[in-house]
Amino acid sequence: MATVYDHGGGVRSIQVPIPDNPLGHTLVYVVDTDRGPVLVDTGWDDPASWDTLAEGLAACGTAPSEVHGVVITHHHPDHHGLSGRVREASGAWIAMHAADAAIVRRTRSTRPERWFSYMAAKLTAAGAPEAHIAPLRTARRPSTLPGFTPADPDREIVPGELLDLPGRRLRAIWTPGHTPGHVCLHLEEDHPAQLPGQGRLFSGDHLLPEITPHIGLYEDPDDTTVTDPLGDYLASLERVARLTPAEVLPAHQHTFTDAPARVRQLLTHHESRLTDLHSLLATPLTPWQLAELMEWNRPWDQIPYGSRNIAIAEAEAHLRRLVKLGRAEAVAGSEPVTYVAV
Ligand SMILES: [Zn+2]
Ligand SMILES: [Zn+2]
Repeated sequence: MATVYDHGGGVRSIQVPIPDNPLGHTLVYVVDTDRGPVLVDTGWDDPASWDTLAEGLAACGTAPSEVHGVVITHHHPDHHGLSGRVREASGAWIAMHAADAAIVRRTRSTRPERWFSYMAAKLTAAGAPEAHIAPLRTARRPSTLPGFTPADPDREIVPGELLDLPGRRLRAIWTPGHTPGHVCLHLEEDHPAQLPGQGRLFSGDHLLPEITPHIGLYEDPDDTTVTDPLGDYLASLERVARLTPAEVLPAHQHTFTDAPARVRQLLTHHESRLTDLHSLLATPLTPWQLAELMEWNRPWDQIPYGSRNIAIAEAEAHLRRLVKLGRAEAVAGSEPVTYVAV
């Protein structure tokens, strides 16, 4: 049975399950428009998740075939996974920010061997031990893994512009950090229960009530630009705090109010984490060594393989921020490169 919640003012949410994931579900929002429902995100590409989405739409008095459009907060498979099936069923358009649309195109066109060799080179440069890198040299892509053939969007979400939702005012707010093309969507309409503040904000994974989103690197084998995703993320947090929405409708967990307070908590969290890392860098460390010393939700030797790669990316994102702030620097001539506090 689908769990559907009516948020008032022509907005409902459907809990679409994510299989084998502690997050449990994605909240897919159904926004009524004059031309039929528009979805904000679609959920994980899995038969049971699809059935739940269809049941949820039926409980909303509609059906997948009636969907007018799909607005995607970011390209991750728990958000964009079912978009292709929704479009097949309805002919709906799919809108996404250009930076995430580029990742979708790259994912569709890049041979898996190229990804594995790119990852192997990156991990080598980060100081990963040979035992960790070796599996990538022989890895083969499982043909059924979700997320490797994401649907190509057909519309671009342009930051600052209103989306084409007949009868509604939904504005795109670019919030890079979790991904380079993450967007929040600001529903510029009075809150249905008259809560104080400016409208409602669909926040995707950018602003969640109880967890901090993963901030890693914008992995791109064809781009050697040294980006600063954590810096982007912190700036994007301040951007959504300034909107002072009456209520935040995130893609996981539950809705909440007082976005500026939640933003302050997250800014404080990252500031204290950067300070902790700065102290660890009293001794020069590779990104791998730093990740081993950082605090995670379990001891390092119990972190599974794939999650370690995510942890390394997170350590590198923090290192880049420290370097950008002038609080750390690469040790000249070190290989693999080590970083030290300044
Ligand atoms: Zn995500
Ligand atoms: Zn997510």
